Amino acid sequence: MTIFNFSAGPAVLPRDVLQQAREELLDWNGSGMSVMEMSHRGKEFMGIAATAEADLRSLLSIPENYKVLFLQGGAHLQFAMIPLNLLCDKLSVDYVNTGEWSKKAIAEAKKFAKVNIVASGADQNFINVPAFETWKCDPEAAYLHYTSNETIGGVEFNWIPESGDVPLVADMSSNILSRPVDVSRYGLIYAGAQKNIGPAGLCIVIVREDLIGKVTPGMPTMLDYKIHADNDSMYNTPPTFGIYMAGLVFSWLKRNGGLVQMEQLNIRKANLLYDAIDASNGFYNCPVVRSDRSRMNVPFTLKDASLDGEFLKQADQHGLLQLKGHRSVGGMRASIYNAMPLEGVQTLVEFLTHFAKRHG
Ligand SMILES: *Cc1c(COP(=O)(O)O)cnc(C)c1O
Repeated sequence: MTIFNFSAGPAVLPRDVLQQAREELLDWNGSGMSVMEMSHRGKEFMGIAATAEADLRSLLSIPENYKVLFLQGGAHLQFAMIPLNLLCDKLSVDYVNTGEWSKKAIAEAKKFAKVNIVASGADQNFINVPAFETWKCDPEAAYLHYTSNETIGGVEFNWIPESGDVPLVADMSSNILSRPVDVSRYGLIYAGAQKNIGPAGLCIVIVREDLIGKVTPGMPTMLDYKIHADNDSMYNTPPTFGIYMAGLVFSWLKRNGGLVQMEQLNIRKANLLYDAIDASNGFYNCPVVRSDRSRMNVPFTLKDASLDGEFLKQADQHGLLQLKGHRSVGGMRASIYNAMPLEGVQTLVEFLTHFAKRHG
């Protein structure tokens, strides 16, 4: 039986990538060493890191005046590093609240800056992205932060907010590389690796050069983007194996037609799944408004929640794993990142249909 893993993160990786990693595990490229055993300053690993960065730059067409940083501490550390590095002499920062991850970013930023909530999906119970016309942005804010895909609530931006001269900052942890994106519209993009990039332990930051290097005295060295930028992310020992794996994923994406191809496939997968949910006559329900539904994380509930346990048990028996929803919302969630093949979504849809027939 083929197993399909719908985990929200750490999540499924492309099979080809895992196979390549297995083949190279004991001896990378004839070096006689595993990537895990290499000095991060040796020529082998320096080459691996440089190729990974070059491939990421080419996938996202990252302009020259942006730095790519390979950091640790996950997206959570960025919740603090962003205000610490970008506040400078400004007094406040703008945040959009679209759900659980926005809230966490906001709570952390409040420790370092006055946070202005420009728009919130809270009164609609986070089932949509607040319309841009309603946003109350401050032209004097140090930056405008939003979460481009709410991994828990399943709400995704299908457009890029207009922030004028205020640098736009996006938490793209769960939808980076799922579609082409105009990096030049952003001041900073960050993403923990464990959803769409590679194993946990690596966090990628793409930041416009003019925004870094203006931190206050007393800033811990490891929290300063400038230190990492000046040292090509090798100020301390970087997460070498994570960078290697990310590099294999980038190269897999390039081989498979890049982000244009990936977006087409992601649209197809998401439509298949949402159509099945919507066609179930209410047996399944996805609360998110159609225009803002995530292509990556599909939350849904069963009309009869007492069937949840049976649903998960049978799904497991069919090789459909990790469909349980986030503990804060309950129900189910199918995460269908880049590495989830179309066949996985097709198999899930067949299962959904059969289960509804038997229990409807
Ligand atoms: C998973 C996730 C995070 C948290 O990432 P960590 O690496 O655990 O810190 C933050 N934001 C979003 C949108 C996420 O999906």
